[in-house]
Amino acid sequence: MKLRIYSYNIPFKKPFRVSGNSVENRAGVIFQLEDEDILHFSESAPLPGFSEEGLEDARFHAIQIEKWLPVLKEDAPPRFSAEIPASVKFAISSLWHKKKAAKNGKPLSDYLNPSSLQQVPVNAAIGLGEKNQVYEYAKIVIQDGYKTLKIKVGEDFEHEFEILKSLREFYPGVEIRIDANQSWDGDTALKNLRKLEPLNIQYCEQPVAADDIKTMAYLKANTKQLIAADESVRNFEQAQKIIDHDAADILVLKPTLIGSIEDYQEIILKAQNAGLDVVTTTTLESGIGRRIVAELSATVNTSRYANGLATGYMFEKDPAPDEHLIVNGAYQVYRIKSSPDFNMDDLLLIAES
Ligand SMILES: [Mg+2]
Repeated sequence: MKLRIYSYNIPFKKPFRVSGNSVENRAGVIFQLEDEDILHFSESAPLPGFSEEGLEDARFHAIQIEKWLPVLKEDAPPRFSAEIPASVKFAISSLWHKKKAAKNGKPLSDYLNPSSLQQVPVNAAIGLGEKNQVYEYAKIVIQDGYKTLKIKVGEDFEHEFEILKSLREFYPGVEIRIDANQSWDGDTALKNLRKLEPLNIQYCEQPVAADDIKTMAYLKANTKQLIAADESVRNFEQAQKIIDHDAADILVLKPTLIGSIEDYQEIILKAQNAGLDVVTTTTLESGIGRRIVAELSATVNTSRYANGLATGYMFEKDPAPDEHLIVNGAYQVYRIKSSPDFNMDDLLLIAES
């Protein structure tokens, strides 16, 4: 068994804007485990503004091969001490499960859940710019087969409302969800969500600050809008709190921010038992991480909602493009190869056993 660690740094086509910052490049660490002639890949890529850990922290833990190799050889799933960052837990846990899945002759998703979906519906994310650009882009993705649009809001609500209203008129059959990324205060959220009620918005993601669970619960109880928690749910305890306060209808889960596959599964079970829906999304990883997130999303076969997996278009160069895996608005999970042949040219080897 051999373990190799690579780093990558690839530019976005357009800088990614998050909480007032502009992120130009996506950087992370790729793990490659060679076991019985099969190559297994995973990824640790903290996203600035979202991950608790920074890239240096993730790299520091990632390159400790002498620690991870015995863990990967164990028969029991890895357990992690508290100082290991979530993205590294995700990467090591994914490698361990992929190795197990391959030994059982199965893809990761089927190994984790024999009744996993073979195709997972995905949403198309649209950033708000000039009206005509938004309409043009919406037209293209709808022609491509996407049935759910996700629109970022939270900057200029009058402008956003006008665009949402037009989109609803142009495309009455398409699902439209919005993501406010914590940008509203409670009063603004109440006013905006009530104004949006006639537009049949699928749900509103994170209308208010992540830790403002009481206001989330208030909005859920006092508007007709379904509320999704995203930034509010990064671990089991936070999921529990949202459920206890009846603060959301949907949990948006980002596996790479949560940690191990067991951590992800634990939250899903909790949500399902409480009657909440789950949406799984990437954290803008490279195609290597996105494939894992897609397989994990396929294990949730009860969700009514499209998942956030179509983020590869943002990259200028990607070691593992997956556009061909997304057909007619659905990620073709069954086409993911168990021992893929990724383009490693732009990756830098930083540690190997
Ligand atoms: Mg979100």
